[in-house]
Amino acid sequence: MKVVVNDVSKTYKDKKGREVTALQNINFSINQNEFVVLVGPSGCGKSTLLNIVGGLLSSSKGGVYFEGLAGDKEPTLGIVFQEIALFPWRTVYENVIFGLEEQGVSKSEQKEKGQFYIDMVGLTGFENAYPKQLSGGMRQRAGIARAFAVHPDLLLMDEPFSALDAQTRTIMLEELVGIWQKTRLSTLYVTHNIQEAVYLADRVIVLSRHPGQIKNIIHIDLPKVGRNKEEHVLKFEDYCDQIWQLIRHDAKEAIKEED
Ligand code: ADP
Repeated sequence: MKVVVNDVSKTYKDKKGREVTALQNINFSINQNEFVVLVGPSGCGKSTLLNIVGGLLSSSKGGVYFEGLAGDKEPTLGIVFQEIALFPWRTVYENVIFGLEEQGVSKSEQKEKGQFYIDMVGLTGFENAYPKQLSGGMRQRAGIARAFAVHPDLLLMDEPFSALDAQTRTIMLEELVGIWQKTRLSTLYVTHNIQEAVYLADRVIVLSRHPGQIKNIIHIDLPKVGRNKEEHVLKFEDYCDQIWQLIRHDAKEAIKEED
């Protein structure tokens, strides 16, 4: 399966009714088993693009195609947002199997898969806990387990760890790489954090703002696991610097607008 984003543009109307071009002529693809990261400063259209790819928002021009799906099958998507929308009245287990229930999977398969993914994200023993009993990091783990459990054709993640403290975030990033290695789901991941992008991506798509356009696509030629090891530091920093040079002007402009 391959996702093709073909000439996508999106305009919004601002508060005064003027047209704002959030995205202009976006073209890229996500290959089978590929981890693609969208990076760019605030307001460059990352979330808009992720939502269009996920079918949650329509484009003004162009479209998104899923090539190589069996028959006319609709793609299965797994989505993880910054603030995981777990159902507060459902336990961890019941949240994780939610998508499987929707798919009409048998009870025994729900149980098997639900437990498998709960174990995989390190929530063994918390199956019967409710979201309010969990820390922020544990809630994100449950959300990740729920997204992976349906074995989606495409996994979409929008700044999934940005609400977490720095240490939890580092741990979660390491764990995500481990989990991803086991599943190799085709993934589109959004972040404004350059280090995070270089740590995770097979390819980084760098967006500029006003309008949101692709500035460059950078292939990260580092092993998938252990990118934070000493031996990769120089190359890692080189990639970060390369991306920073591409977005620094826009990042400064974004800060001015927020002031
Ligand atoms: P990012 O995720 O990179 O911060 P967004 O996709 O949220 O960027 O936004 C891209 C641009 O589109 C911004 O200029 C933003 O103000 C504008 N925008 C986003 N959503 C809306 C909306 N619902 N109505 C009007 N403008 C919007």
